[in-house]
Amino acid sequence: MLRLYDTMSRKKRAFRPLKGRSAGIYTCGPSVYSYSHIGNFRTYLFEDILVRYLRYRGFRIKRVMNITDVEDKAVVAARRDGISLHRLEADKIRAFWRDFDALGIVRPDVVAKASEHVPQMVRLIGRLCRRGYCIQERDGVYFNVRRFARYGNLRGLRSRRYIGRARNEDYSREGAYDFRLWKKWTRGDGDTGWDGPFGYGRPGWHIECSAMSMHYLGEGFDIHCGGADNIFPHHENEIAQSEAATGRRLANFWLHARHLTIDGKKMSKRTGNVLYVRQLLSRGIHPECLRFYLLSRRYRRPLDFTMDEFGERSCECERAGRVIQALRRARGRGGGARGQRMAALLVSGFERAMDDDLDTGAAFKTVFSVIRNAGKDLKAGRLAKADAEQILSAVSRINSVLGVF
Ligand SMILES: [Zn+2]
Repeated sequence: MLRLYDTMSRKKRAFRPLKGRSAGIYTCGPSVYSYSHIGNFRTYLFEDILVRYLRYRGFRIKRVMNITDVEDKAVVAARRDGISLHRLEADKIRAFWRDFDALGIVRPDVVAKASEHVPQMVRLIGRLCRRGYCIQERDGVYFNVRRFARYGNLRGLRSRRYIGRARNEDYSREGAYDFRLWKKWTRGDGDTGWDGPFGYGRPGWHIECSAMSMHYLGEGFDIHCGGADNIFPHHENEIAQSEAATGRRLANFWLHARHLTIDGKKMSKRTGNVLYVRQLLSRGIHPECLRFYLLSRRYRRPLDFTMDEFGERSCECERAGRVIQALRRARGRGGGARGQRMAALLVSGFERAMDDDLDTGAAFKTVFSVIRNAGKDLKAGRLAKADAEQILSAVSRINSVLGVF
């Protein structure tokens, strides 16, 4: 039985779809005012493993991912560079998919751009206003957080006094933490704007994911994922908006990937401490090695990227790859029983680790250890072609999830 750590209930829970054998998953996608770095891709890789493993377990999965192409930072960046939002983002979106594909991440079933779903957002804001959750201010419409009693549950806030005042454009000047649903157009928005019942303008960032997730997956779906930095305020606000509008729980599970640091430091564009996938690949690093390294520790544990550790760990993966090559060349008649035992060990060890909240670190450990033993046995002439075939078929099953061999 697969158990997943749910941020909302703060414990591992057995995963069962809400309906039959099918599950809907919503994953927060990239903001495309800048390039996505390897920390972002650690989260996308964890989501890839989640989707692949659920499919491996026989569930039918529909994964939806958004692209945030309308938001404050993008509008500011386009204005700074004196180009249209579209031009600013087209190149970032292309780069995003290039890295996504290079890392072997299975493309989502639905990719939803915020700019193409404004009518759904407007309708959702209308619903919230009719239920008394909106505050109209001079510059737009805000969500009245005091009206939503469960606000802060995802982040685990015991008292609303601790929510504090967020200091950015996204928040109302009046209410301490009322966040924006709709922003009225100002000169700074340039040519970005839509007509709507709340005046010409654009949606707030949070309402985008609420509207698109429910549009494609229904008002209550199975799993919502993102990076740990999405927990607050983004996912907290999504829950408030969606559940205030529908009166239903938005997602059955909330899963969050921890962040990646580089040489012990947080990645930051300001200090230049940022690594990009294409930058590493251009140094001759194999995409499978990078995929392996980013998955070599369970998604909920911190991962610190250092070139030394990367080199050491990817060697392990390459060693296993060499044994697999050798198994493909195995000759010799008879046998089969030893290979069958090893194949069973491989699959059971892999599944045990993955069932425990997708522990890819432990999964790789057991896979490498069985493969290492297979390598020794092969050298000593204890494995025939039939044995090798059993082991290779188990490797290929496991690899439909891990995607590194
Ligand atoms: Zn989102």
